Amino acid sequence: MTIAAEVISVGTELLLGDILNSNAQYLAQELAALGISHHYQTTVGDNPDRLQGVIQHAASRANLLIFTGGLGPTPDDLTTETIAAAFNTGLIEHPHIVEDITQKFAKRGRAMAANNLKQALQPIGADILPNRVGTAPGMIWQPNPDLLILTFPGVPSEMKTMWRETAVPLLQSKGWSTDTIVSRTLYFWGIAESSLAEKVAPYFDSPNPTVAPYANKGGVKLRISAKAKTEADAIALITPIEQQLRAIGGPDCYGTTPTLAEVVGKLLLSKKQTLSVAESCTGGGLGQLLTETPGSSTYFWGGIIAYDNSVKVRLLGVDSVVLEREGAVSEAVALQMASGVRDRLGTDWGISITGIAGPGGGTDAKPVGLVYIGIAGPEGAIAFSTQYGDRGRFWVRQGSANTALDQLRRKLQYGESTSG
Ligand code: ATP
Ligand code: MG
Repeated sequence: MTIAAEVISVGTELLLGDILNSNAQYLAQELAALGISHHYQTTVGDNPDRLQGVIQHAASRANLLIFTGGLGPTPDDLTTETIAAAFNTGLIEHPHIVEDITQKFAKRGRAMAANNLKQALQPIGADILPNRVGTAPGMIWQPNPDLLILTFPGVPSEMKTMWRETAVPLLQSKGWSTDTIVSRTLYFWGIAESSLAEKVAPYFDSPNPTVAPYANKGGVKLRISAKAKTEADAIALITPIEQQLRAIGGPDCYGTTPTLAEVVGKLLLSKKQTLSVAESCTGGGLGQLLTETPGSSTYFWGGIIAYDNSVKVRLLGVDSVVLEREGAVSEAVALQMASGVRDRLGTDWGISITGIAGPGGGTDAKPVGLVYIGIAGPEGAIAFSTQYGDRGRFWVRQGSANTALDQLRRKLQYGESTSG
């Protein structure tokens, strides 16, 4: 049997243009990657008659119908009941879904409305497509031997999780998927997207695996994707390219872990070393990045938000004469803040950040976006400046926190600073 899929997006807000149909885009890319033919995409509003018409039409020209949207508890969520009606099938309540939904509400401490139980109803004969991340499950249903129906909630994150965890293995086990796609992402910090793109330009012409650059929160990432018959074959295509790209990236490449804080955490753990931070312009942002990683308490001991100069002097031991002479945003103060927090908290490493986040407060000598970062460690302390320009307060703060982490990463990995 040749498989032809049709994606059916349900929701009046799609027709009104309130939201972009990103679910259809995602599913289209996934189907292409799996080698499943996909001939039609249909978008229809929350209207039972028109939806029923779409279902009948789709069933006449496709044998894999993939629905997103309209599984929720509200009266305009009518995908499930309309599908059942289109095949003259009744609905049946699944007691374990009732239990699952009840438990999810209890865990979140929220009261459950009676209409939430509507989500436990599925066509007679349909299997449940579990929803681990939300409340509305989907269905896996073959109303007749030549037709498979899958339904997903509209919420993109839920749809994607359910697609990856259940639908893809199902389609593969049925032998409907002829190909598999595997992606690996390499992350870079301290190199501009354009410079990296120039260095790895020849790889962009590679058809399989493909290599594509993306901006990544102030850093850059390269995604390597291979298509092959098996996962092992795809990985075999990726591995040599990954090694070559890592070599080209050198110290700017920090591997396949997306966040620098996690990479630094792993390095500190492996060396059994500890870290503390002294933050001025990031106001705790560095501590936040570090503590997003579970288990960070092992290596991250704490920090001092030294916003006012008096705090820099009293809690970090910054010399008030130096502070007066050089200004709070200076190499000398960054050095003293880093050494100060390291000494006072008794950690192996201390990081400091002091800068002008803007939009106000800049001068000709010290413009907005100027940030000094200090790193104190077992072999002494260094401080250096970076310049974010007037890209905005958010970027100055986010960028400097990550640059500070990146400098510590380089020291931990290579033993010396590679910054200028
Ligand atoms: P819920 O249980 O949240 O009501 P649902 O299955 O009923 O989920 P909808 O009510 O249709 O889904 O949509 C929920 C939200 O998901 C929408 O507000 C919208 O933000 C998003 N969404 C729905 N359909 C799409 C789509 N095709 N592409 C992208 N986002 C979508
Ligand atoms: Mg809804």
